[in-house]
Formats: sequence, structure tokens, C-alpha cells
Amino acid sequence: MSAGSAETRRLFLDTPVTYLKGVGPKRAEALLRLNIATAGDLLFHVPHRYEDASTVASIASLEPGMDATVIGQVVSKGVIPTRKGLRIFQAVLRDGTGMIEVSWPGQPYLDRQIQKGETLLVTGSVRFFHGRQMQPREFVNLGDDDEGTSGGRVLSVYPATEGLGVKAIRALIDGYIDQLLPLVVEYLPPSAVARARVPLLPAALRMVHRPTSIAEAEEGRSRLAFEELLFVQILMRRANALARARRNGIAFENRRDLTSRLKGALPFELTGAQVRSLREIFADMCSDRRMHRLLQGDVGSGKTIVALFAALLALENGRQAAIMAPTELLAEQHLRTFVRLLAPFGIVPLLLTGRLPARERREAAERMALAAPLLVVGTHALVQDATTFARLGLAVIDEQHRFGVEQRKALGGKGERPDVLLMSATPIPRSLALTLYGDLDVTVIDELPAGRLPVPTRVVPAAKRPDHYRWIVEQVGAGRQAYIVCPLVEGSESVQARAAEDEADHLAAGPLSEVRVGCLHGQLPAAERLDVMRRFAGGALDVLVATTVIEVGVDVPNASVMVVEDADRFGLAQLHQLRGRVGRGSEQSYCFLYESAEPTDEGRARLKALVEHASGFDLAEIDLEMRGEGHLLGRLQSGRSELRHARLSRDRRLLEEAREDARTLLDGPGDPVVETAADERFGAVIAGLVRG
Ligand code: ADP
Ligand code: MG
Repeated sequence: MSAGSAETRRLFLDTPVTYLKGVGPKRAEALLRLNIATAGDLLFHVPHRYEDASTVASIASLEPGMDATVIGQVVSKGVIPTRKGLRIFQAVLRDGTGMIEVSWPGQPYLDRQIQKGETLLVTGSVRFFHGRQMQPREFVNLGDDDEGTSGGRVLSVYPATEGLGVKAIRALIDGYIDQLLPLVVEYLPPSAVARARVPLLPAALRMVHRPTSIAEAEEGRSRLAFEELLFVQILMRRANALARARRNGIAFENRRDLTSRLKGALPFELTGAQVRSLREIFADMCSDRRMHRLLQGDVGSGKTIVALFAALLALENGRQAAIMAPTELLAEQHLRTFVRLLAPFGIVPLLLTGRLPARERREAAERMALAAPLLVVGTHALVQDATTFARLGLAVIDEQHRFGVEQRKALGGKGERPDVLLMSATPIPRSLALTLYGDLDVTVIDELPAGRLPVPTRVVPAAKRPDHYRWIVEQVGAGRQAYIVCPLVEGSESVQARAAEDEADHLAAGPLSEVRVGCLHGQLPAAERLDVMRRFAGGALDVLVATTVIEVGVDVPNASVMVVEDADRFGLAQLHQLRGRVGRGSEQSYCFLYESAEPTDEGRARLKALVEHASGFDLAEIDLEMRGEGHLLGRLQSGRSELRHARLSRDRRLLEEAREDARTLLDGPGDPVVETAADERFGAVIAGLVRG
């Protein structure tokens, strides 16, 4: 076929790429690897980054230590071997001002891709090595014409593949974009596009391919990001509705027996938020659908008692309830709380952890095998294969983010499709939770028990340490208790444990010799750990030097001072959890942070955030911004964001907008075009998420 005929043939968005000029079978294959089969696909193959040629430095101006972008022509090149067997590709670049050597260690194959006379755009650091040398982080081969260098325009850099370089893709897209753009129409509801304040699709595509500035490229991206978020929201909503309809489970009956008696016996009034949460949970449990609910509430908001009410509802229906906690310490604490609260009703809760002696384990197993009402508290021992329940009706997973997907699913898999309640204080921003957790209903406890005072948080300069210890001794004199959390130590748990013991010894022998110091870490035998915890909770110890075993859940209301050593090395969520160990009673509490010897900028930024913000939800938003969503996503279930254009950390506003629009769309008559597009783009991913 002659090249000219492609020009005269009318082009459609679904014209196969093989009809395009310059695309033979080889290229078509390469394009397919980039998911480009049609001319229209080319338009949606958008740059993954941009080089702004207006900020290019002249070669003469480069100095060692600088980080710069230059554009120059290759005047010589070659591969040089080193003594260590490493092969280095080197090229000398020249622009109007001078020359510089550029060196790519370990990339000899570049010799085939880069030819003398071609123009390269190179970004990297400059160092001194027999003269000035550039170490490229990235480069773009601009080819023999210097199209990219003219007029300070923004250079689009496209994802490329073997056999089809950036330059070839750019040429292909450049050659057809003027013909293709007029064929594109906006297919999202115009009102939604307007509300989201993003450009219409044809304009957006022009902006991302041929931006006049980086800002314009970003504006174009926002339209594509909005579309992705809208698609995800539409599919999630649809999947959720389907999943709910399918989820039949136990219909409990609200007999107001044990639950009413517990309410009467509580030493405090439930907060409005606790009452609201219970109403939602009871409604779930009493419906014939299976409950699958996440209860989110900041540290100290009183989730445990909510779980206990739910458990009693199961018990008064003749069922078993299991509450799983991530640490033995926390399981033991829950047990103590439940034993105390349930004693008047003659209910004896059961503890099941991995460290239980064989005989006790056997006894526990026997009680669980009876089809009688039973409350079991435990660790992941609850989900081991050997553990069976005769009539499990409710599975509660406390601090659920500390468990893997498999463990969470395993507890729900015990018994006869029990209702599932997940609880977490590690605040995942609500928006993200809804996007990530598939068919999960979310309840938020947005209120702390009355009388809780904010916990002033301060970074203590090292020089103040002696004064600070004296102040802690005074606090103890006034009846308070304190936690001192030891630095994270590299190495095994036993190394960490030893460090904690050393610190405790040091403090007990020195600055805190007047008070009673205890030490708690994960390596202590269960009995000893229990004993230490019981003594601290009972006031027989004043200061508890501990590792992060106390991070989650520990509840000693009289403790009012939290000291964190090397605080900048902890994550923000972790710091917030640690601070949450105090401020649980009516006394004024405090949180003090010591910096490590060499805090990083990010570490300092975390401390600043903690000092300035009290709400876990605010901190979660900040955390998300500081770390990007990748981390959170990784920690949650999907592992990998399938979003190509949207960035959850950056596009929060668009996400909110998209959620609204998805609701409007699905509550109304729907929109086949948009829904089909959503299916094509994300159907498979969402189906996987919801099933997983
Ligand atoms: P978290 O939500 O962090 O798990 P907990 O359930 O451990 O919080 O509750 C923290 C503390 O607050 C506990 O000592 C608990 O007894 C107490 N508490 C819970 N609800 C209330 C309430 N409505 N009024 C007063 N104290 C409460
Ligand atoms: Mg808790």
C-alpha cells in the first residue's frame, strides 16, 4: 500500500493503527503492547511526563553539584569497559555554549539507540570526574531535528516500548492529532464536567498532548482523572448494591435483654456517636443481610464497648461472638474489661491466644464446640484452621488494619456466615475507605466521650531532659502515670526488647529513681506481661517504659503523660495511636516528643503535624498528602492503583465530585454510554476488588 493512500483515506477513531502511515506489522505489534490498537487509542496514550525545554540550562553553566536539564547534540560516543566488568556508555554533548560528557554506567545497549548527530535532552546531576560529567536520571532522544528545543515549548514524553521509542510515538501522535481531535466528543454529562471544573474532552486531549505550559498539561489531565474517578465510583456503587443484595445472613432479634442490662450497668453514658453506631450495627444484624461494616473512630472514641453490645446481641440470640485483636496484650485487656462488665450477668468470656498452655487451649476448644452462647476474645489464634466454632454469629476484628486480608476473611469464614464488624482507629480518610473497601458499609464515631481534654503535644529539646524528668516525677507525685516509648531499634524483636530493658534500668537507677518504673515489651512471657500490665493499670507502677507493643488499644485512663523517644522515626498514624494512650480520663494529659539524633525533614514535618493537629482524621489526610496514596493503597487490599491519570492525594476534590455524580447518575435513569465506558475501563478490576 502506498503511503499516500493513508492520507486520503478517511480516518475514524476506530480505524486500526495498521492503516496509519508509517505503521507496519512490527510497529502495530509494538503499539498493541501499549494497548494501542486504533487511531483513537493513540489519542488516549497520553504523556506520562513532560520536559519543559524553557528551563534548560546551557552546558557552559553546569557546575559539579548541580542538578540540571540540558539539550545537546551527540558529538562522540562509545562504550568503555571498566576493570570491574561494568560497561559504561558515554556520550559527549554539545550545545551553543560548550561540551559535557554524559555517562550511563551499565547501559552499553544505549550505544545502539543513540547515534552521533542526534540531539538528547538529559536531566541529571553534574559531578566532577576527570572534568565535568553528567549522570543522567532520565533522557529523551530528540532525534536529528531539534524540534523539542525550539521556542521553549513543553516536550511531551510518552510511555514507550521495545521497538517503539518515545520519539517514534511522539512523531506518530503529532502526525495524526489534528485529524483525530475533531472526531472526539465529550460523552460525560455536561453538567458533571462543568461542576468538576475540568475542560471538555477534546480540549483536554489537546492540552495533555500539546500543552503550552506544564500548568495547561495538568488542567488537561484533570479531565482524564475525573473520568477515571467517576468510572470507579459508578462501578463501586453498582457492585456494592449487588453485593448487598446477595449477602444473606443471620437475622438477629433485638430482645433488649443482655444489651439493656449492660446499658444499665455501664459506669458512663454512651456518647451520641456510640448510640448512632449501635443503631446502624443493630439494624444490620437484625436484617437478614449479612453485616459487613467498618466502624471507624478515633483513638479513645470508645469502640470496644460498641463491639461488646454487638456481641451481647449475638449472645442473647443463642449465638457465639468472637472478637479478634492484633496483640495478646490487647486481647488480654479486652478480656479484663469484659470480665468486669459481664460478671453481674454471669457471663464468663473466654480468652484464646497462641501462648495459652495446651490444657487451657483444649478447654477453650471444648467450650467453643458447644452450641451455647459464648463470647471469645483472642488473637489470630482464632482464625487458625484447628479453631472451630459451633455457632459463630458475630465476628469482630479490632484494629483491623493490623491484619492481612486473609486473616480478616478467615474469621468471617468461621461458623455459619457470621455478621462481620471491622474496627479501626487508624483513620483512613473516608473518601479513600469508600473507594477501596468494596462492599463495605462505614460507620464513623465522630465524637469523643464527654470531658476529654485535648492532649497538648510538644517537641522537647534535648537540653530540657533533666527538667522534664523532674516534672514527670512531680506528675507521679500528683497521682498520675506515664508511658515512655523507646526508640525503634533496628534488628530483631529481642534487640528491641533489650533496648527497652536497658532504658528502663537506666531511668530507674537515675532520673526516675524516686518512682516505680516497669518495663513492657513483646518478648516477655505472657504471665509476666500480664502482671506488668495489671500492675500499671492498678497503679502499682508509675512509669511504664515500653516498646510499641502499647501502640494499639492499651487503655489505662489514669495515665496522662506520653513520652516518645526518637519520635521522628515513627509514622504519623503510629504517633497518633501512641498519643491516644493518654487523654482517656478526666485529667489533663500531655504528649512529649524527643527527636532522634538526625531527624529527616519528613520526620520533622510529621512531628509538626502531630503538634498542630488533634484529630486522627485530619492527620490521616495529612499523612496521605505527605506519603501519597501508594502507601495506603499498598497497605490495603488492592496493592496497586489501577488509576492511570488520577492521584487520590492530589485529586481529592475531583473524587468528592465524582462520588456525587455517580450517585446522581445511578439514582436517576442511568447513562448507558458512561456506564459502558466505565465497564470497559475498570469492570475487571472492580469485580476483583469486590470479590477479594
Ligand atoms: P478505642 O475506640 O480507642 O478502642 P476504647 O474502647 O478503648 O477506645 O475506649 C477508651 C476509654 O473510654 C475506655 O476507658 C472506655 O471505658 C471509655 N469510654 C468508652 N465510652 C465511653 C463513654 N461513652 N463515656 C466515657 N468513657 C467512655
Ligand atoms: Mg480499641
